[in-house]
Order: sequence, then C-alpha cells, then structure tokens
Amino acid sequence: MTSSTESSNLAVQAAAEATTDYGYTPLLVVVSAPSGAGKTTLCDQLLETFDNMVYSVSCTTRDPRGEEVDGKDYHFLTEAQFRAKSQAGEFLECAEVHGHYYGTLAETIRQALAAGHHVLLDIDVQGAEQIREALVILGQHDPLHQGFVDIFIAPPSLEALRARLEGRAEDSPEVIDRRMGNAELEMSRAEEYDYLVVNDNLDEAFGHLKTIIEKESIPDE
Ligand code: 5GP
Repeated sequence: MTSSTESSNLAVQAAAEATTDYGYTPLLVVVSAPSGAGKTTLCDQLLETFDNMVYSVSCTTRDPRGEEVDGKDYHFLTEAQFRAKSQAGEFLECAEVHGHYYGTLAETIRQALAAGHHVLLDIDVQGAEQIREALVILGQHDPLHQGFVDIFIAPPSLEALRARLEGRAEDSPEVIDRRMGNAELEMSRAEEYDYLVVNDNLDEAFGHLKTIIEKESIPDE
C-alpha cells in the first residue's frame, strides 16, 4: 500500500512533470494596469504573437459594452449567478471593481495550463494580490505557482494618462477624474509585481513584454 507521504510525493512529481513535458513552463501571466495605460492593446498583441497563449475569460456582473461577446470577452452573469459560483469555490480570485463584481475561474486556468497553454489574466490589483496569497497556500509545486508571473503596465506619468483619457474622448470629466483617482491608487501598488512595463512607446512596451514571456517560460536547468 502507498503511504500518504509517498502518494503526496507522487502527486508533487506528477504536477512538476506536467509543467515540463512541453519543453517550456506554461505560464500564468497576470497583467494589471490603470485604465488608459494601453493594457488591452498590449494583451491583444501578446495573444496574436504567442499561439500557445489563451485569454482567461473572467466572469462579471457588469453589462456588456459595445461589441463585447458573452463567453469571449466576459461571462456576463447576474449577481445571483456570480454569488453561486463564488460560494461553490469556483473562483481563483474575485473582487469588486468600479461597482461591479469580477472573478477568475480556477478550473479553466488549470485545464489550460495542463494542456500546455500560457494563460493571460487581465485583472485588477486586488485580484493579483489574492492570487499571490492563494499560491502561498497551494505551494510551490502546484502548476499555478510554477508558472506564475505578474506584470504591471504603467503609463509614463499620471499627466500622460490624463492626456490619453481626455484625448480618446470616451468619458465625461467626472469619469476621467474617477479613473485618475483609481489610477493613482493602482500605481502606488506597482512595486508588488515581478515586472513593471512602462508604456511610453507601444512597440517598446510590447518588446519588453514579449521578452518577459520568453524568459519566464524557458525550462529550468
Ligand atoms: P472593464 O469592466 O473595463 O473590462 O474592467 C475593469 C477592471 O476590472 C480592469 O482593471 C480589469 O483588469 C478588471 N478585471 C477584469 N476581469 C477581472 C477579474 O476576473 N478579476 C479582477 N480582480 N479584476 C478583473
């Protein structure tokens, strides 16, 4: 009969092998940024460039905007549906952002990593913090832990961010002021992340991001 220590060692070994069979480590890439820092464009470029990278489609209670498609941009849920998933423990993290709930589905991420995909998460600073805390509990042999990398994308300055938000003329002055207040809070937490990418020039920022992914996914010797 296998002892519990032996079987837990086997489980650890299996988890470790699952992440190296592909010749690279499937990454759990967490990206956060204040609104207007260019995160969506940069994430789209990453997904176009790395064909083994998939986007983690979050659940949200906010209404769809513009051309957004249910199941592709978000899983749009009622508050009751969201609460049920939360109570069932389906979220790796969940948080209230700008008055709506958002959450990352744990099982989807595990399946994608197990299939050798890098998984890209576009989540806020609270969600990133919750994932870091969850990883401590899961332990370093868990595939989520092994592939974890977090990146904060910042505008060159708060003034530049305001100019961008005003330039795109999508939001009222009140909304811009609120976004600027949030941006200041989020920027004060940039140092919690492994990497900081300053988006002054889109091509350079993308080059930096690409290098991070390539470097992090190289298998350990
Ligand atoms: P939006 O509603 O504009 O798409 O997103 C608003 C904010 O919610 C962004 O900062 C985005 O990164 C964040 N967000 C999107 N999905 C999630 C999620 O699953 N969890 C958390 N914590 N934040 C999310």
